[in-house]
Amino acid sequence: MPGLPSKSASRRTLVLACALAATGLATGCPGPSRSAGVKPATALRSVRDIRVLLAVSQSDVRIRVPGKYTIRSREGNVLGQGAALPWAIVSGGPSVVLGGRPLGGAGIEIVPLSGGTVAVSRQTEFGWSPVRQYGGYLRLLAQADGAVKVINVVDMETYVAGVLPGEIYPDFHQEAFRAQAIAARTYALYEMSTTARAGYDVTATEGSQVYEGLSDSAVYRKACAAVEHTRGLVCTWTSPVGERIFCTYFCSACGGVTQSVADGKSRHNIPPLAGGVRCDYCRIAKGEAYRWKPRSVPSAELMSRLIERYPQAAKLGRLRDVRVLRRGAGGRALVIGLIGESGETFQLPGENFRLAVGSRVMRSTDCRIRVEGDSVVFENGKGFGHGMGLCQWGMEGQARLGRSAAQILRYYYPQAHVTRAY
Ligand SMILES: [Zn+2]
Repeated sequence: MPGLPSKSASRRTLVLACALAATGLATGCPGPSRSAGVKPATALRSVRDIRVLLAVSQSDVRIRVPGKYTIRSREGNVLGQGAALPWAIVSGGPSVVLGGRPLGGAGIEIVPLSGGTVAVSRQTEFGWSPVRQYGGYLRLLAQADGAVKVINVVDMETYVAGVLPGEIYPDFHQEAFRAQAIAARTYALYEMSTTARAGYDVTATEGSQVYEGLSDSAVYRKACAAVEHTRGLVCTWTSPVGERIFCTYFCSACGGVTQSVADGKSRHNIPPLAGGVRCDYCRIAKGEAYRWKPRSVPSAELMSRLIERYPQAAKLGRLRDVRVLRRGAGGRALVIGLIGESGETFQLPGENFRLAVGSRVMRSTDCRIRVEGDSVVFENGKGFGHGMGLCQWGMEGQARLGRSAAQILRYYYPQAHVTRAY
């Protein structure tokens, strides 16, 4: 496999396989002793499927199975089957209701047979959303409030192929697709092993990674090729207690230097996420991802956006000033202080401030902020996104220069390795 490391791969594979299979943890947290019971690498072929929350239906999600299917309870009892399931609205109550028919269980599974797919669409104010197709099967979980969680249970590789089209530009280099596939796979495995959510591992949105399911588009085929080429490969680092995966953050463009993840997040205080990686490769970015033009927002509008997320900011009244109280080594605003007309102050992390203001207005925290009259002005902006971890436009820039996926990942995640997990 060109560009992928073979050095020490078998040792890492064993340690990682043991860590994942024995404890479900491969996250840098010390676990039980792994000196005994080391399993062969093949143990990880049974890494469980990932559970992706697609939607929470308030009778506004419908599903369809174009081919043969089975409906079963969580215990495996067959509740129904057929040659095809026409569009059916998912609703709830004490049990899951499909197309108006109660299925007699709070948790049921719709399983397409023979490698078939299941289609999902959601009602919006503009009508039904475009239909998305999913592999694996759907798990429907009725909630106490009458809603139903619609969860796609699918194998990791199919999941990663469904993530790439939503997280990368279609015309990116093949090697950039491969690097993104490894980062997306690692991120998902990290989320699965560290974050307890009620009935699912990740969402299908930016909150985790955008996941679009199956498609017959050219970009999806490109994604599948990258996933196939990198099957089972993840990013790891050598922690004091052995080889561990880590949270492979990625962003659109760093704008010149990556940001430390460790600020305020001690569990990420590890070399691959330390930031400070110089990168001008993202200079090739389209639009304003590398450098962005000044923008201004009326102070009153900024305050109302802020109060939506942070009601306690209302104590400021009219906004008098905005100050960057602390900047990181790379120049990003880490702490923002807002000062109200009567001298009241309110502080928050720079990234939280950016998301409250709007990520299309304040495209990164690497900028100057000043109050001018009744407006807040953002200028000298560099980069797009949080700037942490892998710089996607930089990844593309390096791929065009002939660098491999592994070289690119090791560049943005210092001291990381690309390791075969299964
Ligand atoms: Zn960059």
